[in-house]
Amino acid sequence: MLRVVDLVRTFGKHRAVDGLSFTVGTGEIVGLLGPNGAGKTTTLLCLCGLLRPTSGRIELNGTEVPSERGKSIALVPETPEVYPMLTVWEHLLFVARSLRLDTGWEARANTLLGRLGLMSVRDILGQELSKGMRQKTLLAATILAHAPVLLLDEPMIGLDPLGQRELRELIRELRNDGTAIVISTHMLEAAESLCDRLIIMKEGRAVASGHVAELRLQVISGRTLEDVFIEITA
Ligand code: ATP
Repeated sequence: MLRVVDLVRTFGKHRAVDGLSFTVGTGEIVGLLGPNGAGKTTTLLCLCGLLRPTSGRIELNGTEVPSERGKSIALVPETPEVYPMLTVWEHLLFVARSLRLDTGWEARANTLLGRLGLMSVRDILGQELSKGMRQKTLLAATILAHAPVLLLDEPMIGLDPLGQRELRELIRELRNDGTAIVISTHMLEAAESLCDRLIIMKEGRAVASGHVAELRLQVISGRTLEDVFIEITA
């Protein structure tokens, strides 16, 4: 479904993403791992159209995606910025109206609020929300949008354990519905349990990729993903 070919993004002379290629199939979860500064966020920002790639191709179902991504690729960013003067519910309403979602969205929105523990703050303004609640609001609004490609930048950081468990469950359900999902994370255990495939990045390049078991074999079989990650990126 999503195909990234030789993606490059430079900042001045620095190549933050340096010739990265990968695919994400329908109903597949791909994890982007890598040390700080490896280029994970830059990759996601290029994919969703918030950053213009220096070069490379991003294709969706065989067609190069236009710079205006529209409804096709959605991102939940690492830093949860919400509209300060909109309530939690109004964020969902905003998504529903601007994307002209089908009738029935309200029931789905209420289910999402319930599952993410946001019902009690449904009518609270964005500026009054805690960081975790802001993140959950963005997750609810983005999941409601139901884009075919979902990008999640460090989605677990800042969520309480119950929120993390519910989000993992929601991500699996979206995958089962056919959404192509890319998750950037430092949480190796979550990556291991959630992702179908992993890409380990270092200095803008993919230095290893494959299924968790394959990655372990690339170093020494039987080692944990943490051992492999440190071995590859050290
Ligand atoms: P982290 O795990 O710390 O979030 P990351 O893998 O997401 O890191 P990026 O945020 O993509 O890494 O950064 C990749 C490189 O690009 C870093 O060297 C960073 O300093 C640089 N970079 C990112 N954004 C900019 C920018 N707007 N201007 C200049 N350099 C940038």
